[in-house]
Amino acid sequence: MTGLLSLDNLKSHVGAGEIDTVLVCLVDMQGRLMGKRFHAQHFLDGAWEETHCCNYLLATDLEMATPDGYAATSWEDGYGDYVMRPDLSTLRRVAWLDGTAMVLSDIVDHHKHEGVPHNPRTVLKRQVEQLEAHGLTANMATELEFFLFEKSFDEIRRSGFRDLEPISGYNEDYHILQTTKEEVVMRPLRNHLYASGVPVENSKGEAEAGQEELNIRYADPIACADHHTIAKHATKEIAWQHGHAASFIAKWHHDRVGSASHIHQSLSDRNGKSVFFDDSADHGMSGIMRHYVAGLIQYAADTTYFLAPYINSYKRFAKGTFAPTKTAWSIDNRTAGFRLCGEHTEAVRIECRIGGSDFNPYLALAAQLAAGLKGVKDKLELPPPTAGDLYASKRSRDVPSTLRAATEAMRKSKMLREAFGDDVIDHYTRAATWEQEEFDRVVTNYEVARGFERA
Ligand code: ADP
Repeated sequence: MTGLLSLDNLKSHVGAGEIDTVLVCLVDMQGRLMGKRFHAQHFLDGAWEETHCCNYLLATDLEMATPDGYAATSWEDGYGDYVMRPDLSTLRRVAWLDGTAMVLSDIVDHHKHEGVPHNPRTVLKRQVEQLEAHGLTANMATELEFFLFEKSFDEIRRSGFRDLEPISGYNEDYHILQTTKEEVVMRPLRNHLYASGVPVENSKGEAEAGQEELNIRYADPIACADHHTIAKHATKEIAWQHGHAASFIAKWHHDRVGSASHIHQSLSDRNGKSVFFDDSADHGMSGIMRHYVAGLIQYAADTTYFLAPYINSYKRFAKGTFAPTKTAWSIDNRTAGFRLCGEHTEAVRIECRIGGSDFNPYLALAAQLAAGLKGVKDKLELPPPTAGDLYASKRSRDVPSTLRAATEAMRKSKMLREAFGDDVIDHYTRAATWEQEEFDRVVTNYEVARGFERA
């Protein structure tokens, strides 16, 4: 697609003076781009093969802290290096930055020369290999919701995150008038992403003041997660270029709707023909699709951590907000955790609505594939669909409502330990317990305001 570059294309652009900088990036545990900015000539001279980074980048938190308790690295082990190996199939222009290209890297252990198992791209690649071993491929799409704010990141930070005025004054769901006013950010975002090899379908206003959604065409799981990561990064940078902030926090205010990232998923055979579609079956859902969805539901609690990785993520699961609280499935019903879309068509697919816009897409997609594939392997029976307002349902199981509960479900999950490996699950369990420990330690504004005088 346009925007993707071969090494030869890059050489020509560098020779013509059109590209002078190459960003060599990895994706960290939080789904962020981390890496180095190379002079393009130095990249062509050798860094395209490999470069290095400190191994703490896959054992840190949003604040770049160095928590103890990780087997992979520590102060005792001296925080050595990883090898970053550019995946040249991801080499692309960064159209919103002058003279810049980008490549995503895989991570190899410096000493053992093996892939680092807890690297998010590796975690997802292993699940894709599992699918391939069953003669299957996946089509996935992650919708990206986020909020645009009047002020810039720096102004908001200087106000102690109090000056949070969304860019619009009203619910802008599907609103053309209000979203026209946001084109200063959204038009360059769509066009620059497209020119950078990210197949944007559309953007639309969402169901809250200042909330936008970006949709990208479905792709294989790795490309989908790469697109998601680059799109999220571009949204923040382009908002910043125009003096605004864009936030992907799952719930920025308790009185406002949260931001989701729904995951659309379907499976195909090696020839790209959907194995989810069976015209003669109920709703056009094949046997494989029924087992896959049954796996997603059966293991919904096990996989919730990878869809909701922070304390704040759980504030989104509120009744009457379109964020689900139940793990049931439904036919085109937005109150359920899993929604059947494209009923009776070639595009029949399942949408997981549990994930927040704050998840790491590689880990979220990997966990969905692991749960679905387990359902297929074990031929799990799909319960009947649910209908009506699922928030009120007593029959359906709840999505874990706290980080603590989701962490325990992940830690104890035999399915995830089999699919990801004990080392990977132990690594992310530590990431989760660290988030909880940090929160438990801090006195919040809420507690002080509530108790300062009246307690
Ligand atoms: P809606 O707006 O009703 O949620 P859309 O038609 O906008 O649904 O599609 C949402 C996402 O689903 C898009 O990113 C699209 O590329 C993706 N999608 C469409 N068909 C499939 C499919 N067969 N498998 C997986 N994802 C798909």
